[in-house]
Amino acid sequence: MPQPQRSDQRQLVVVGAGAAGLYTALCAAREGATVTLVSATELSETSSYWAQGGLAAALAPGDSAALHLQDTLRAGRGAVRPSAARVLTEEAPAAVADLTRLGVIFDSDSAGANALALEGGHSMRRIVHAGGAQTGQRIVARLSAIVAAEERIDVVTGSRAQALLVDDGRCSGVVLDDGRRLFAPATVLSTGGAAALWARTTNPAGAVGSGLLLAHAAGAALADLEFMQFHPTAVVAHAQPGADGLLVTEAIRGEGALLLNGDGERFVDELAPRDEVSRAIYRELVRDPGSDAVALDMRAVDPALFPNVVSALRRLGLDPTSDLIPVAPAAHYMMGGIVTDLEARSTLAGLFAVGECACTGLHGANRLASNSLSECFVFGARAARAALGELPLPAGSRERAVAAVAGAPAAPSRLSQQRLWRLAGLVRHADGLSSLLDDDHPMVRLIGAAALARAESRGAHWRADHPAADGALDGRHVVLTAAQEAILQDWK
Ligand SMILES: Cc1cc2nc3c(=O)[nH]c(=O)nc-3n(C[C@H](O)[C@H](O)[C@H](O)COP(=O)(O)OP(=O)(O)OC[C@H]3O[C@@H](n4cnc5c(N)ncnc54)[C@H](O)[C@@H]3O)c2cc1C
Repeated sequence: MPQPQRSDQRQLVVVGAGAAGLYTALCAAREGATVTLVSATELSETSSYWAQGGLAAALAPGDSAALHLQDTLRAGRGAVRPSAARVLTEEAPAAVADLTRLGVIFDSDSAGANALALEGGHSMRRIVHAGGAQTGQRIVARLSAIVAAEERIDVVTGSRAQALLVDDGRCSGVVLDDGRRLFAPATVLSTGGAAALWARTTNPAGAVGSGLLLAHAAGAALADLEFMQFHPTAVVAHAQPGADGLLVTEAIRGEGALLLNGDGERFVDELAPRDEVSRAIYRELVRDPGSDAVALDMRAVDPALFPNVVSALRRLGLDPTSDLIPVAPAAHYMMGGIVTDLEARSTLAGLFAVGECACTGLHGANRLASNSLSECFVFGARAARAALGELPLPAGSRERAVAAVAGAPAAPSRLSQQRLWRLAGLVRHADGLSSLLDDDHPMVRLIGAAALARAESRGAHWRADHPAADGALDGRHVVLTAAQEAILQDWK
């Protein structure tokens, strides 16, 4: 019987340094583990850094995990995995408390309690913020400062994970783009989302699902890729490169901002879940083909509440205290990802996934606003605990390990992005989706396959050829196996 290599014990490789990666690394280090944290980009290029809203947690008097769960289930349109949503809603308040202990200063009200904002789909004020709409920036800045000072965490910046290492059906580490091989009993992917695969997006350019491809190439299952959430209020500014898609947080609608159509009339409940609001805007744009935006009227909202949104708009030449802001939906959040259990384990032994790259099933077909940052922390803590329980790599594993290369271009071509936007956007049809199966980019092909397999309309996935939800698909998830099959699974 070969003896395990003791030097590997309690070691972890974490790939991606957004909220999920930073917090997972920190939780593991607090347990005494040694961690290597790989970060491909500057912090400002993570979605976490850009997050404007905040974290959803049942903290208000009269609120409860049960109510938060109810809202999450309702927003997810019958596709939420209840056990995952239960974990999130029960553990989110403790995550906020831990971040506070770590030095994140959340905004407070005049009584010194957390100031709580309202966002779409929530039945109560439930969102904690830091610095108004600077929540992501503040959290990432604080966590990265702690990580940088933590001697148990070795941060490798400017390197990309290019492949996972696999030995005997178990992930044993990663290969970086400079050729280095990092071995560990547990590898955690926290590589973020995939919304930048679509031509119009609120996400940083790197959010193209690279972790999903790494995991899939190594034999892990993916799920729910047909569920891309389109955020209703992304600024339309085609004439200004880099400005189109700037997010205007939903919290501004929570403070009373209105959506107006070309006739200056309201056409939707501004605080309905995002799938509903986005599709209502889509219908307005179809009704008025000359127009590419509806108007967000935030003239009655106190600009002091959202200083960084207001200054970003002013840089675009828009004064939100007097101008109407042109907005339209943009790809924003990938509900699907690497299939994980409630401890963040993927279907490949030794491989974990946390944050937007993971699919616990918690968001169903439509993520409830601000549940995703909470997810990074709740499941990051769980991933760290579970990963530390992995057995050391067996003797000889390093020598035997094979790199499972995804063989994908890191960035999609502009053409692939436009095809995804056109054919797998707010409204889809089998004909368009079928043509995505021949795209150059493997993520586009996988998304096309998942969207074809779900022959119904539900949440963010709207099929013009199947315009109603199919009750037989309630609670069922489209899983793409390593054998490239699309199968339907029930998740409890
Ligand atoms: C504009 C905007 C506003 C948002 N507002 C909110 C909000 O208010 N509340 C909320 O809950 N959610 C919000 N979201 C969503 C939320 O921010 C994200 O879901 C969450 O931050 C994802 O965190 P993450 O750690 O999983 O990924 P990210 O923060 O995206 O980090 C991913 C990291 O992985 C790295 N990476 C990727 N591939 C590789 C590779 N191959 N090798 C090495 N590194 C790699 C990236 O460089 C990056 O460092 C918002 C998103 C956006 C874009």
